[in-house]
Amino acid sequence: MSELKEALKSWRRYLHMHPETAFEELKTSEFLAERLEEMGLEVHRGIGGTGIVADLKVGDGTGIIGLRADMDAIHLEEQNELDYKSIYQGKMHACGHDGHMATLLGAAKILSECRNFKGTVRFLFQPAEELGKGAYAMIRDGLLEKYPMDEIYGLHNAPAYPEGRFLTRAGHICSSEDNFEIIIRGRGGHASTPHLVIDPLVPAAEIFLALQTIVSRNVLPNDFAVISCTELHTDGAHNTIPGTVSILGDTRSYSPEVQKLIEERMKRICESTCQMNGARCEFKYTHEFAPTINWAEQAATAVNAAIRVVGEENVEENCLPFRGSEDFGVFLEKIPGCFVYLGAGKEGEKPGSLHSAHFDYNDDILETGAKYFAELVKCRLGCK
Ligand SMILES: [Zn+2]
Ligand SMILES: [Zn+2]
Repeated sequence: MSELKEALKSWRRYLHMHPETAFEELKTSEFLAERLEEMGLEVHRGIGGTGIVADLKVGDGTGIIGLRADMDAIHLEEQNELDYKSIYQGKMHACGHDGHMATLLGAAKILSECRNFKGTVRFLFQPAEELGKGAYAMIRDGLLEKYPMDEIYGLHNAPAYPEGRFLTRAGHICSSEDNFEIIIRGRGGHASTPHLVIDPLVPAAEIFLALQTIVSRNVLPNDFAVISCTELHTDGAHNTIPGTVSILGDTRSYSPEVQKLIEERMKRICESTCQMNGARCEFKYTHEFAPTINWAEQAATAVNAAIRVVGEENVEENCLPFRGSEDFGVFLEKIPGCFVYLGAGKEGEKPGSLHSAHFDYNDDILETGAKYFAELVKCRLGCK
């Protein structure tokens, strides 16, 4: 096994064994900073909490390329029996961010050794991707002013696709995620006296169904939108009409315009339905993840770099957009860039699933990912 492959595997397994969740990635961050310093990079710690920016500057070029990995684990008890199993109870790298970090360290190693470019590569290790808060925390901390970048690139593993296959597209690649809470207050009472109460379940039921008309009647049929009511709570009992009902849920879309339309229509439906039924409505709507929208020029660069690493037959340059959400979208609102997926499924094996207690990163794609990032830099800042 090559020295690079060996290093990638051991970093990845160390990180897998020591998973830390959002904004608590202290040891993770220190581990990364030490490795990056060993490679001779200039490391800036504590950006957006536990975030890191590490610079590799070669020659007198002025171009600056940002490469980003996410650092956080999730709250889950690992069910794998591995000698590098998580040592922290209830925490696990089940989304592959251990692999993403190792991949980016690998890119730093390749680039710091071959130095075949002119300019600056800025390696970003971002906290709290799972919460959709880490990219924003780094930006709020002055990331873009203190460490500006011309372009930024990121990657996520995709176990449902064959290992070593790159998937991307210009335009939207991951959805937005918004959360909502609708609290409907009526007046509870005895189940036998519905005429004396204001039953909040009646508007709740009407709202529950009416919300689906937003997708079918308001959103342009070519656009993507999902509204899912995922929780329903009442303070009633089997013989007591409740006084309060709350409906919680989640919406997805691929554009800020659809996101806005959903929010406005939901609010209108909830408030008017409650009013019609004599109930009071409290409507809370929060933006959790921005949609991830790839820039066309950088998507073309990403495709080129991927082709150079794995060949044309293993690159899907116009893949179907993914329905999940990614914190990377926040960077792409500010800086041109591109996000790609890297297939991680092993041939002949049932694909693993992200966020499963049995998930384990496919170490065989680490080198591919690292080479892809290094190739991107060569494409943009290369000396040919
Ligand atoms: Zn995840
Ligand atoms: Zn993830």
